Amino acid sequence: MKIVAAKSILRANDQLAEENRRALDAAGVLCVNLVGSPGAGKTTLLEVLFARLPDGVRPAVIEGDIAGVIDAERMQRIGVPVVQINTEGACHLDANMIAAALGQFDLATIDLLVVENVGNLVCTAGFDIGERVRLLALSTAEGDDKAVKYPAIFQGSDALVITKCDLQPMMNFDRARIRQDLARLNPQAEVFEVAALRGEGIDPLVAWLLDRRGARGSRGR
Ligand code: MG
Ligand code: ZN
Repeated sequence: MKIVAAKSILRANDQLAEENRRALDAAGVLCVNLVGSPGAGKTTLLEVLFARLPDGVRPAVIEGDIAGVIDAERMQRIGVPVVQINTEGACHLDANMIAAALGQFDLATIDLLVVENVGNLVCTAGFDIGERVRLLALSTAEGDDKAVKYPAIFQGSDALVITKCDLQPMMNFDRARIRQDLARLNPQAEVFEVAALRGEGIDPLVAWLLDRRGARGSRGR
């Protein structure tokens, strides 16, 4: 019987992630790993966020889904270059998949590459894909207890984007509670509160992301 230890798989992933990060840095591309549950509003957030980017900041997207091309089609519709990864069952993206997808782009024509990860709060936390920024989207509809239940993804993210804040009056979601839990797990993390379909709260997130371009090099994983 042959047994492969999960630790050695993760080590190999980390090496590939470092290669991705070097290639992206060399091309001047800020890579963002957008994680969150299915239905957190990740794709809608991107649609609205890309519309608010200043002229001259050229976005591109890698869409990670178990199956289908629905989100990639939405990106195409707004004119953003996109590569779809279908994981065929795998519940997260890894650095190897990203390396293959990067080969489909001309990195010289991209400033901001967002990887929309497979909807999942669990193992996406364990896989570095070579990003400089990890953004976690959590909707008010999911509940304010998620940081306690899924601490790793809150610990490993650079910012929490609370989405669907316009639904909060109908939800039992306490923003102060999630902020407190996040501050305990990850005091450096930024928090943004958005209602993407209303276009609310997007501009501070755009400004923060563009600042991360300047800060590139300060963060490795
Ligand atoms: Mg999506
Ligand atoms: Zn997984």
